Amino acid sequence: MNEHASNIVIVGGGHAGAALANALAAAGLASRTHLVCAENELPYQRPPLSKAFLKNPAEAIQPHRGESWFADAGITLHRGDAALSVDRAARTLTLRSGTVLRYEWLVLATGATARTLPGLPAGLANVAVLRGADDALRLRGLLAAAARVTVLGGGFIGLEIAATANALGKAVTVLEAAPRLLQRSLSPELAAHVLATHRANGIDVRLGVSVSDFVLEGERLAALSVDGVREPIELLVMGIGAAPDMQLAHAAGLECGNGIVVDASLRTSDPAILAIGDCASFPEHGGTRHLRLESVQNANDQARTALATIQGADEPYRALPWFWSEQGAMRLQMAGLMPGEGTRHVRPGATPASFSVLHYAGERLACVESVNAPLDHMAARKLLEAGKSPAPALACDPAVPLKQHI
Ligand code: FAD
Repeated sequence: MNEHASNIVIVGGGHAGAALANALAAAGLASRTHLVCAENELPYQRPPLSKAFLKNPAEAIQPHRGESWFADAGITLHRGDAALSVDRAARTLTLRSGTVLRYEWLVLATGATARTLPGLPAGLANVAVLRGADDALRLRGLLAAAARVTVLGGGFIGLEIAATANALGKAVTVLEAAPRLLQRSLSPELAAHVLATHRANGIDVRLGVSVSDFVLEGERLAALSVDGVREPIELLVMGIGAAPDMQLAHAAGLECGNGIVVDASLRTSDPAILAIGDCASFPEHGGTRHLRLESVQNANDQARTALATIQGADEPYRALPWFWSEQGAMRLQMAGLMPGEGTRHVRPGATPASFSVLHYAGERLACVESVNAPLDHMAARKLLEAGKSPAPALACDPAVPLKQHI
């Protein structure tokens, strides 16, 4: 058994883990840091996996940093070596290889795992999910060989895959259980635009469907039962969301809910252990809810808050959430959190395929969603960050640039 003395151990080399490694190096705190990665790859960018990487066979996985950067910063990388257990009393983490790491600070950045259809056996030859580099490589090969693709789930990743498959000339069907697309993430106005665009591009989007059964033939999925009708399947991609990876936290007795529960400084129920990124359930700044967000912004900004906590500067996490998605020719951008109750106002853009939806909670601008309106979106984000709320009629007047209200 190898035993190392170390100050900071990060579990998970995804966006949050890599961003924290980066922040620690910039603060001169990276020596005696260990970054533990279950995957073999160097920490890499996930968003291209459902976009350029799937479309273009020449596209490579994009690492955040080269191997030598980690070594130069004094960070020990453990690749292909998952963390198996935490001993909180001894403050040690044991890896699959048997390596034991002693920590002063343990940061869980374990991300999320793609959900699968309940009951469907794992390992079917024509069924795929998309979360990591291995999934993306496999899906790229499967897509190249398929003529017809069925995407289960009309969320962001499912729709990005559907748009990519459509651009590759495949016949694409999207099966969504909810009565509309992106029900929890987008306003009805934007969701209707997304639906109409995908349908106009030839994607068969079916809403409100129920998948009740499936038929296997050897190692393949032969058919799904959709609304009681048997639909043959050539390639099924499951885009039905992701579940926070809380295995390690659970086993260590940390409080977990819809994510590893943390306070505003991102401390778990054990103050020597932090959790950041997709796996963390954190208190909404100025609100009453606990939130778990799956976005690059959240991973990066929580890494900064974790650094502040490690440095002893208790700075509550209060970053403005923002997110983007690329679906064919549509670039969707969201900033802020949709209020439970409020009003929505549409600001037209230069063309019918470009507009923004501004959400107000009372008189406060709370959230802005845009499609193909990057300049308006940047201005709206600045308004949100500055806490400025121009009256809806002013903010939606296309004759007045939004940036004028900043
Ligand atoms: P992850 O990046 O998932 O990293 C977690 C890492 O922890 C993984 O590598 C995992 O293997 C590792 N791990 C888990 N358990 C252990 C263990 N026990 N030991 C060691 N390692 C472990 N966001 C956007 O804002 N815009 C986009 O356009 C966008 N597109 C996306 C497209 C795809 C295909 C996917 C999958 C995600 C996309 N996202 C996008 C979301 C974004 O990538 C995630 O929010 C972000 O990766 C979260 O970072 P994370 O570090 O919390 O988790």
